[in-house]
Amino acid sequence: MQSQEALSPAAAPEGSTREALWEDLQRAIRSRMKPEQFETWFRRAALASVDGEVLRIAVQNTFSRDWLRTYYGEVLAESAREVLNGARRVEVTVDPELLLQVPATAAPAQTQNVPAPNARGTITALATPTPPPAGADRSLAREAHALGSSRASENSRGLLATSDVGLNPKYTFDNFVVGPCNRFAHAAALGSAESPGKAYNPFFLHGSVGLGKTHLLQSLCWSILDRAPRARILYLSCETFVNHFINSLENGDIAKFRNKYRNVDLLVVDDIHLLANKERTQEEFFHTFNTLYQSGKQIVLSSDSPPKDIPSLQERLVSRFKWGLVTEVEPPCFETRMAILKRKSRERGRELTDEIASLLAERIDSNIRELEGAVTKLLGFAGVSGLPISADLAREALRELFHSRRGQPSMEDILTLVTEHFGVKLSDLQSKKRTNAIAYPRQVAMYLARQITRHSLEGIGGYFGGRDHSTVIYAVEKIQQLHEQDPATRALLDGFLGRLQAPRG
Ligand code: ADP
Ligand code: MG
Repeated sequence: MQSQEALSPAAAPEGSTREALWEDLQRAIRSRMKPEQFETWFRRAALASVDGEVLRIAVQNTFSRDWLRTYYGEVLAESAREVLNGARRVEVTVDPELLLQVPATAAPAQTQNVPAPNARGTITALATPTPPPAGADRSLAREAHALGSSRASENSRGLLATSDVGLNPKYTFDNFVVGPCNRFAHAAALGSAESPGKAYNPFFLHGSVGLGKTHLLQSLCWSILDRAPRARILYLSCETFVNHFINSLENGDIAKFRNKYRNVDLLVVDDIHLLANKERTQEEFFHTFNTLYQSGKQIVLSSDSPPKDIPSLQERLVSRFKWGLVTEVEPPCFETRMAILKRKSRERGRELTDEIASLLAERIDSNIRELEGAVTKLLGFAGVSGLPISADLAREALRELFHSRRGQPSMEDILTLVTEHFGVKLSDLQSKKRTNAIAYPRQVAMYLARQITRHSLEGIGGYFGGRDHSTVIYAVEKIQQLHEQDPATRALLDGFLGRLQAPRG
């Protein structure tokens, strides 16, 4: 018997014992569900206490508590029985403190230090600090900038309105939902806004599309502008920088260009990865960067990948981009998706129940822009039909979502179909056997996986005894060729694809 025996009947195992016990429990829980379910509900839970009778698990909020009680009571009881060698009553409690703990997997890989938002302080790095404007003044500024109005740059305010990008008045910190996926990025943006040029310079934010990079960058601008309306801020997309640079070269007014970009308090360039493969512009940006950096001006950049992964980005730029803080926005976890859905709906004047929000959050699992789109569609549908927002209405309004996501065949579906059809065992497909009776079904399964799942080549190889990506490419190409040349194979494969892609319940 393991160390757990010693715990009983102590009320709360301490330190490492508790950690070890919690790890064992998590393992037992994980083995009883899909990885996504574990990530969503148990990764951030904690073991609160255990004694001879009761095992208490703590979660962050009442919603998670109720969900665990309703759907995972059995799993928890079984896991406790397995790990503790005897039955326990399992209770789920709420511990809001857990919200403060970011799980290891959610931490950005390249964060050098955990940014703590600074206390609200003076904006020493800005050239012309002024007291915060009155509320009315502030909203006026927002309107002007939001419209990209040239008046904004003509009057005494500092924002240099670029020709094509105005700040979106909705992209503020107040409207940004914070969760484990973006907590560091949000804190770092706040920190940079509160002491520009000091806290994190440059501040480099990366992450895939639709995860809130532009929203955070603009929030940072608004925040500085709110407190120092004369701050000279230049917010622009990388594309604008590139175009402007090329035009300046052509028109021979490069001096004017340099004067514009090198005389600001804050330079924010969105989507800097577009500097990829642009040698001359990279050169120019390098000098812009140096000039601003040396005079303590804040530089903020966003990108779809970390600096080292931007194709053909000069090494000296890669290293400079890493001088300050590099942080990532990750895809939102389930609870954050729920919170975003509810917030977006509330902003549009309707409340979503937890039931509806979770229905959508389960199906849209990566992109925040898609979450917004779903809310818009659902509310539009409800408005037109005059019906209350129910689960049925959501299914009706977002039919493609329910079909395509739900119907998305998994690797298991493919393996089941193939093993049944060819009468082979899964272990054969995963073995090293290369006889045609095994190799062919294996190659067909790889081909199907490539056609209809989103797994990478390595990911697919992993399902077949850890084969590498070149083996998968070979298989896919071979079957592709047969599909083109051999009518019988074509009929077989199309039959498989049809069955796998048929919508299901
Ligand atoms: P990116 O620049 O990373 O592609 P955006 O900043 O354009 O993404 O975000 C896409 C949409 O999602 C925007 O409308 C934005 O307001 C919204 N959004 C993204 N993250 C959040 C968040 N954490 N809270 C609220 N809205 C968000
Ligand atoms: Mg963007």
